[in-house]
Amino acid sequence: MMGGVKGARRFLLNVLFPVRCLSCAAYDTYLCDRCARAAERASLRCPVCGEVSFYGARHTGCGKARRGLTGFVSIWRYRGPVRKAIHAVKYSKISDAVRELVRRACDVMERDALRYEPFLQFARGAVFTYVPMRIRAEDARGFNQTRLITEKLSRYIGAPICDMLCKVKNISSQTLLSGARERIKNVHDAFAVRDGAAVPARIVIIDDVWTSGATMKSCARVLRAGGAREVWGFTLTQAV
Ligand SMILES: [Zn+2]
Ligand SMILES: [Zn+2]
Repeated sequence: MMGGVKGARRFLLNVLFPVRCLSCAAYDTYLCDRCARAAERASLRCPVCGEVSFYGARHTGCGKARRGLTGFVSIWRYRGPVRKAIHAVKYSKISDAVRELVRRACDVMERDALRYEPFLQFARGAVFTYVPMRIRAEDARGFNQTRLITEKLSRYIGAPICDMLCKVKNISSQTLLSGARERIKNVHDAFAVRDGAAVPARIVIIDDVWTSGATMKSCARVLRAGGAREVWGFTLTQAV
């Protein structure tokens, strides 16, 4: 009976608000096959120098091995259909759309196992966490898409999630700061390990878009200082 009610509700919702591709508005999917195929893939890069790295691992000569990100992977470039879809998710709050994006991302990783397997192997034995949102933004929308991406991805990969980080200062005014040094310092002090959170040895930290990487690098430094031995970053897209 319950199933019938649920089924009827779903049917009605689908008639009133049909599922459509967030990019091209094709019916019955949030990201259609055509748009998914058209999405440009991101190249994997060393998280320290930004140059190409086949698996996304940090180059051995880059940065201090004991600090920051061990590696970083991303699926698409932040443009075209995927950019439209991520943007729409942010404002439409459709969690099924997030699931679809993550499923597509996992398809890409499975099909390109040569590149992504080192990350996937690490991820299967790691704990997942995510970049905390600006506190005010999260309050206003009551929806944290980065957390949702993390939940869906952890389910696909079969790894646990833990809320490890919090924001200790609002960095929304970052673009107003003039000097580059001032900007870096600003991000540096922005995150902390949550009170009472245990920091595991292997962590995957997740965000929706990698822009300069400053935020994710800052989170990784905090986690390393808190006792993590390896931290990989994952984003659906890369805006570089
Ligand atoms: Zn489409
Ligand atoms: Zn490098």
